[in-house]
Amino acid sequence: MKRPPPPPSCHPLADADFRRLKATRPRLWTDPKKSCLTCLKREGLQDSQTYLWYADNATGRRTDEIVTYECNCQQQWLMHLWFLNAGIPLNYQRLGWDDVKSVPQPVVDQVMGYALQAVRNIALGRNLVLWSKSPGTGKTLLLALLSKFLMANGFQVHFSQFNEVIDLFTSSWRDKDEREQWTRRVRNVDVLAIDDWGKENKGRIEMVESMVDQIVRSRVADAAPTIFTTNLTPDEIQQGYGVYAMSLLTEAADFIEVTGADFRPARRELSRQEADLGLARPITAV
Ligand SMILES: [Zn+2]
Repeated sequence: MKRPPPPPSCHPLADADFRRLKATRPRLWTDPKKSCLTCLKREGLQDSQTYLWYADNATGRRTDEIVTYECNCQQQWLMHLWFLNAGIPLNYQRLGWDDVKSVPQPVVDQVMGYALQAVRNIALGRNLVLWSKSPGTGKTLLLALLSKFLMANGFQVHFSQFNEVIDLFTSSWRDKDEREQWTRRVRNVDVLAIDDWGKENKGRIEMVESMVDQIVRSRVADAAPTIFTTNLTPDEIQQGYGVYAMSLLTEAADFIEVTGADFRPARRELSRQEADLGLARPITAV
């Protein structure tokens, strides 16, 4: 069996992006002819180019049936780098909407609602906040899936941890050009997706305020949406740091409370089962 090809918006990286990824990740997958993260092909060692995974819904088979897929290593590699360049880590590259089992359907529907109205929401600079007081309810997964969906529909996305953004914002860059390039990207990308908003180290409040203020103000001014997950309530977000910037952001935001049980123990059990069965999750855009 074959998997559907990547979406048309999936494109090879520009040389500069590839070099930047390579510089920060010594183990980057660089050549799909020699190795593959999905079928585990390795030059001189294993040359299978097939893998086992559940049947695709679209084929009309039962989705709990395990089938053999021909691996299109080149396509898996293209999608891997495309997502990685947007900041989406490998584990989320391999998850899809079928994996959002612990989140109540009305919540998933609301997130899908934002996605299906993406053209309009993005043109209007409509922000989205996925919040819940408790951890592990699937907020990050929803944010990653929404990011992938938007990329598949032709939007540029930058996905990042809040802490990572602060670190990059405050660190001393060796290369001034690189810093400017990063700042430009965070400000100008179609959709900025931030995971764990508000989870900053104590003692950096001033820096965080200044960052939030600069990034949020410039994005709001350009009607460029920011979507994020947080353990803060809507009130706490508005009363936190950068009050003025946050009031600008929340004025044009939809808040979705992501209720549900902690899905992480179930996820761990599932990935153990997959490993026992010798399955390989392919990288997927949907
Ligand atoms: Zn492969």
